[in-house]
Amino acid sequence: MESQIQQIHQQLVDKSISCVTLIQERLDALQKNTHHTVNSLLSEFALEKAAKVDAKIENGETIGLLEGIPFGIKDVIMLQGTYATSSSNLLKPYKSAYTATAIQKLLDAGAIPIVKENCDSFGHGSSSENTVFGAVKNAINPELVAGGSSGGSAVNVAKDYTVFSIGGDTGGSVRQPAGYNRVYGLKPTYGRVSRYGIMAYASSTDCVGPIAKTVEDIRIILNTMSGQDTKDQTTYQSQHIEKERIQSTSNAKTVGYFKNFIESEAIDPQIKDEFLETIEKIKAKGITVKELDFFDSDILVSTYYTLAMAETASNLSRLDGTNYGDRIEDKNLKESYAITRSEKFSEETKRRIVGGNQVLSQGFSDEIYLKGLALRDAISENFEKDFENLDIIISPVTPNIPPKIGDSLKDPLAMYLSDAYTVGFSLGQLPTLAVPQGTQTGLQITAAKNNDELVLKFANFLKDTI
Ligand code: GLN
Repeated sequence: MESQIQQIHQQLVDKSISCVTLIQERLDALQKNTHHTVNSLLSEFALEKAAKVDAKIENGETIGLLEGIPFGIKDVIMLQGTYATSSSNLLKPYKSAYTATAIQKLLDAGAIPIVKENCDSFGHGSSSENTVFGAVKNAINPELVAGGSSGGSAVNVAKDYTVFSIGGDTGGSVRQPAGYNRVYGLKPTYGRVSRYGIMAYASSTDCVGPIAKTVEDIRIILNTMSGQDTKDQTTYQSQHIEKERIQSTSNAKTVGYFKNFIESEAIDPQIKDEFLETIEKIKAKGITVKELDFFDSDILVSTYYTLAMAETASNLSRLDGTNYGDRIEDKNLKESYAITRSEKFSEETKRRIVGGNQVLSQGFSDEIYLKGLALRDAISENFEKDFENLDIIISPVTPNIPPKIGDSLKDPLAMYLSDAYTVGFSLGQLPTLAVPQGTQTGLQITAAKNNDELVLKFANFLKDTI
């Protein structure tokens, strides 16, 4: 498939479609859709911008590649003056006071946001059912979940309601719904894209990432959003990734995969077979494929959830009904905080706040939290060692196919375990791309820190290989 951005850009330049028509068509499709992908539409804002793009084209001015291209924003990311609900009751009436850096960069390039997208509340979930806007339905089979937490964003791209969408990935939330809906989703290297303006879930692994239909579109969006930001001290200056440098001939000589992921009893036999077939096709191209030892999925999942819950308990403590969103008054301030938080947070979010506060509390923190931090260091070191002798690690995105809507809510532990293959790369802060190939829920391609370019290049190679 050709770059969607490039294709639409050409249509705008050729005047085979006007920007207003383009935006209106996508808004109508979003409005009518029954997959519950929309939290709010940005119709007025978007159409006003579209009219300006049309005027520019009429005047014979040149337009940038992203100018007039409609995109979606997961509803945990700020766009000044528009709703940012995080799919929660607590923030249902909240409007952003400022714009996230990544979104500002896209606005500066002329892209047009048209929708705030449904997701798991505060990024808490792997199915996009933890939302007050109704469970997001899978793009391919609406009886199944869309995946989470950026489910609305992935479905919007899969259904062509948006050309691309911007999600957030803390432990897999861009990659997993991308896999479930068969589109591309990138978690960039931690710090490549500013986190300023994405609601903090677990700050040490939160990443803003693009979802799109082609590798080229991912490249364009990533380049636009990347860069050092004084408002996020963890950002770094990265190099622009040139199109020519990610063409499909791979320079990866050695690829690895985690043996225990594939030998696990929890993996769906079909996903396992598909993955092993993919390995054979890669070997047939003369690439050396190595089996690697890694931490057990249980350790990865428990380390991730220990740290993520601790961080989210701390980050969400600011939401007490005073400064943001809805408030329920009670007899005194303390009671008002308590009732607001009890009534307005979802069950899943409360489970994480309670778990996180437990992990951080005196008497437990040494035993649990510090142990989690030590394990995270060990996981990162393991990756560093692996990448001394390897170019790429591949893995399935998920051990299982998407569950039916309703099932994950009954079994939170099973839902946490469905993140077994995504969370490790988050803890390692590595660049990882989910591609819609290799298994029925896709394949993850990971490279060493800051080597997002190689990830995209290998994705192009795989596109032509398997
Ligand atoms: N499913 C994982 C969780 O619930 C990851 C979510 C995310 O990346 N925001 O924590």
